[in-house]
Amino acid sequence: MNAPRVDFPIDSVPAAAGSEHIDIAIVGSGFAGLAMAIRLKQSGQHDFAILEKADAVGGTWRDNHYPGCACDVQSHLYSFSFAPNPGWSRMFSTQPEIRAYLEHCADRFGLRPHLRLSHELRRAAWDEAGACWRLEMADGRRLSARVLVSGMGGLSRPAYPRIPGLDSFAGEAFHSQHWNHGYDFRGKRVAVIGTGASAIQFVPQVAPRAGHLDLYQRTPPWIMPKPDRRVTAAERWLFRHLPFTQKLVRTGIYWALESRVLGFVVHPGLMKLVERVARRHIQRQVPDAALRARLTPDYTIGCKRVLISNDYYPALTRANVDVVSTGIARVEPDAIVLADGTRRETDCIIFGTGFHATDPIPRGVILGRDGVDILDAWRDGAQAYLGTTVAGFPNFFMVVGPNTGLGHSSMVFMIESQVAYILDALQRMRAGHVHAVDVRAEVQRDFNDGLQARLGHAVWSAGGCASWYLDPRTGRNTTLWPGFTWQFRRATATFRLADYHTLPQRRSAVRPGEERHAGAAQVQGA
Ligand code: NAP
Repeated sequence: MNAPRVDFPIDSVPAAAGSEHIDIAIVGSGFAGLAMAIRLKQSGQHDFAILEKADAVGGTWRDNHYPGCACDVQSHLYSFSFAPNPGWSRMFSTQPEIRAYLEHCADRFGLRPHLRLSHELRRAAWDEAGACWRLEMADGRRLSARVLVSGMGGLSRPAYPRIPGLDSFAGEAFHSQHWNHGYDFRGKRVAVIGTGASAIQFVPQVAPRAGHLDLYQRTPPWIMPKPDRRVTAAERWLFRHLPFTQKLVRTGIYWALESRVLGFVVHPGLMKLVERVARRHIQRQVPDAALRARLTPDYTIGCKRVLISNDYYPALTRANVDVVSTGIARVEPDAIVLADGTRRETDCIIFGTGFHATDPIPRGVILGRDGVDILDAWRDGAQAYLGTTVAGFPNFFMVVGPNTGLGHSSMVFMIESQVAYILDALQRMRAGHVHAVDVRAEVQRDFNDGLQARLGHAVWSAGGCASWYLDPRTGRNTTLWPGFTWQFRRATATFRLADYHTLPQRRSAVRPGEERHAGAAQVQGA
């Protein structure tokens, strides 16, 4: 960059009275936040803190603990490349094992001193004069940071259905993410609303315990057999003593999953082959033709997330389970009333209704230059450059940002790509004496135009379904990466300063308490 140097206080931005300054603040301690922290530490950077709203690490794998909760991507791939776990007990691990893995990583990589538990970010505002982020926690604590990394995840805010009368319901009601483990299902009439990735995992667990279970299905999902099994002791021995064997398994899984992109994006017609397998699965598991018809989707497979399960369909064939596909009209204190007037008595409602995926950040939490709320910058739908940086939000990096989600492979691979990109950014900023970067609006726009052009032909838009992948206001797909994950890795391999407006570093640091040159604190070229 040939932007002129300005005299600007950076190396030691004075903190607001009574608050602390750190170089890098990471929000969240799930896979994303932990990966960022581990890589920072490994690169010799120790001036960072992980702000975690809860009292433990783990992100979605701490928050979701419903019965049956497990990963639908093989664990050998759904784990950090730099921290293989030879001890996975199953091909698809359950939530407690994944959560324990993340706790283990926090210990193994020495992250505990950097962890600030019970630190819920209420607001992060870019301070133009100080060229830093001013952070305020829910309990009023404040700190400032030069760089803000969001590892807040896209699926952390539960979504509840808007159904008339829901507030009047007198029984037990909870979301899959807020499971009430103390509730005794024995003899109870349980209603489950939703048939997504979460519901298909907990319904088989609840059905045998409940007196009766009504499953309210709005749209049936496509479900494939789950190739799950125990990892044998011999395999675990091999993985422990000959680590390349686990690497081989990981590589094999990676390429098998990558091949699915051919159907999702390259030629949706190929999905017909996958659909045949799913049809055979339901044929085998649901003998009743009428029930089978109700459970068979009418849209192209892949349009919504393809689910995998071996116990969901059998659970629905139980005598104490009804699949209700008539719409819900209203809820009464002790019943759900359907659109056709049928009243179904209910003791407990479980919402398997998903998350605010296209609106992951609440209003008022991230404020960029000129106090602009990120939600206003995203009026036409969330967007970022490489899913990581957002124009008008200097030194703000998102891990699992817009259009980084996957329908076919491991999010951990995407997370590691983004973390490497952010590390490269920090290294190039240091080498180029750059204090802050702000992605150029035209770079972000061109990138997103290209993305949307590719997404328009993909099965998620062309497959004839509605899904949370698409922004409800614009119909644009703001959540998924439309291609192979190695293409994303390649796109994020190098941080190009030329894509960004830059704010140069000042040569001599300002001691805390010194005056700052507010007028000089402008990102060059902005
Ligand atoms: P989801 O996939 O968004 O499913 C929500 C379900 O609720 C859908 O069946 C939806 O029906 C239904 N629904 C929503 N609002 C409704 C309403 N007003 N009335 C009736 N039905 C309504 O949510 P999820 O199952 O919690 O999964 C969310 C995501 O979490 C997944 O896609 C996945 O990315 C992740 N997840 C991953 C795993 C894993 O193993 N890795 C496990 C669980 C979850 P429609 O289809 O008609 O909209």
